[in-house]
Amino acid sequence: MVSIYKKYFAVAILGRWHAQHASLHAVHIERCYVVCDVFGSFFAHGRFDNCSVIWRLVQIQYLQYLGVKRFILELVKHKKILIFIVMLVLVAAIFGFIAKRHASAPTSSSDNSSDASSRSNNSKAAPKTHFDKRQYSLSDPSSPWVVVNKKHPLVPKTYAPSDLTAVGGGQYMHAEAARALTQMIADAKAAGYILTPASGYRSYETQVSVYNNEVKIYGKAVADSESARPGYSEHQSGWAMDLSSGGCNISDCFGNTPGGKWVTANAYKYGFLLRYPADKVAITGYRHETWHFRYIGTKLSIELHRLSVRTLEEFFDVSGGNYN
Ligand SMILES: [Zn+2]
Repeated sequence: MVSIYKKYFAVAILGRWHAQHASLHAVHIERCYVVCDVFGSFFAHGRFDNCSVIWRLVQIQYLQYLGVKRFILELVKHKKILIFIVMLVLVAAIFGFIAKRHASAPTSSSDNSSDASSRSNNSKAAPKTHFDKRQYSLSDPSSPWVVVNKKHPLVPKTYAPSDLTAVGGGQYMHAEAARALTQMIADAKAAGYILTPASGYRSYETQVSVYNNEVKIYGKAVADSESARPGYSEHQSGWAMDLSSGGCNISDCFGNTPGGKWVTANAYKYGFLLRYPADKVAITGYRHETWHFRYIGTKLSIELHRLSVRTLEEFFDVSGGNYN
């Protein structure tokens, strides 16, 4: 111990001299540490706890004298900066790797309209976000994903569902859709909104009379814009429901009723889709129908909501618009 103090004392004398003259050109950083240690040991009998303050003062003088550039060069000489740079590069590489993995996940999921070979490539990168667009038929009328529009009639055109289930108001839907609708109406009621089923399944024969009646009153062009030809109606598929609320029965005002606003915002949670949005007329082939909701199942409705895709035609890349 004694020999160590002797050594420190010698350095302390030298260090103090340099510190007093504010010219630390000969004082090394390590030596400043030693000076600090010696001050702490000799002048406060081991209880001097301002060692860090003294060290800081010496350090500031040292920095002022050398300048930052010189200080960095000193650090490089002592390899500290090299260790720092290596660590910085390592941390940046790790963050870069993590960021790249995060960024690649949604990109591959948005590609899932591609063919089977690219799907298998994507599945390696992001299996959890992959959405299989072919897990249900798009042409079988008993499939909740069936796309029915003016380009794609029901096959056969006289199709009738085999599991029609009552939903109230004298209306019917497929059993699965009926369950979802009943839950949605119950939850709307609990939230303070009354939704009433106004028109669900319509048979081929009913659609013949509805369409012919429209043609008779408004003419063929108007009838085609708001009423499907027999065999082309989602209502005939058993997957669609027109809702009424607040005295608005299958009319534009439905969208502005509190109940209409609630169902527009919440339908996707129950597997329903506002089928004919205002800005998709050219794609769906129908004018904006605030009251017409199509059951597609929650798996698809939540995916559409997540991607902000609003029509089946766009999501499945299926043709739509007007009749051929
Ligand atoms: Zn409708």
